[in-house]
Amino acid sequence: MITLENIHKSYGPVQVLRGVTLEVARGETVSIIGASGSGKSTLLKCANLLEQPDRGRIILDGTALTDPGVNVDRARARIGMVFQHFNLFPHMSVLGNVTVGLRSVRGLPRQQAEEIAQARLAEVGLAHLAGQRPARLSGGQQQRVAIARALAMEPAVMMFDEATSALDPELVKDVLAIMRDLAGSGMTMLVVTHEMAFAREASQRVVFMDRGVIAESGTPAQIFEAPEHERLRRFLAQIL
Ligand code: ADP
Ligand code: MG
Repeated sequence: MITLENIHKSYGPVQVLRGVTLEVARGETVSIIGASGSGKSTLLKCANLLEQPDRGRIILDGTALTDPGVNVDRARARIGMVFQHFNLFPHMSVLGNVTVGLRSVRGLPRQQAEEIAQARLAEVGLAHLAGQRPARLSGGQQQRVAIARALAMEPAVMMFDEATSALDPELVKDVLAIMRDLAGSGMTMLVVTHEMAFAREASQRVVFMDRGVIAESGTPAQIFEAPEHERLRRFLAQIL
């Protein structure tokens, strides 16, 4: 469904990504783990062209987003992004946050956009809060709104960047439960996470990033039970 091919990215003299190649099949969930600063967020940003890679190609469902002449906005709308900080619009209602992309990017009329938004909010258990401002919601609820907003666009791929890292511990499990359901439902997902239980149980493949490259990848059993790379072993020893 999405292929990242030999992605390089530098900021000034700092080489943040040094040739990352990663393929996520339709319906597959891949978790990315690795120490802070290893380039995980930069990789996701390159994948949806929030950052322009210096080298390499992004191929989404057969279309190379990095080719000249590709409508980047339209292509990017097919990748749902969920960030650590929910990035909701504070001046809009929950419903407004979920409909805004449907109306502005997809050009849907208000009523149709609101029907879709209500259905997506119901899926994350928040239909009853549609009229509220985000500030009235808990962090976990806000993150579920952000997930509903991304799903409303019918993305080909969902990407999560430490979606539970900013949440109070008791709110983490609701968001993880939604992510697990989504993975189980056949969504294609690329998930940067420090939640090793999620990586182990909800993903088919785990990728360990280290200093701008994929140092090791494999099934959860391979990565967690038989890690080969010394730095992966050390990372797991620290985090588990
Ligand atoms: P991770 O998500 O794995 O913690 P990041 O992709 O956020 O790692 O960052 C990797 C490295 O790139 C870090 O050293 C960070 O300081 C650097 N970096 C990220 N974004 C920028 C930027 N916009 N400008 C300069 N350096 C950046
Ligand atoms: Mg990051």
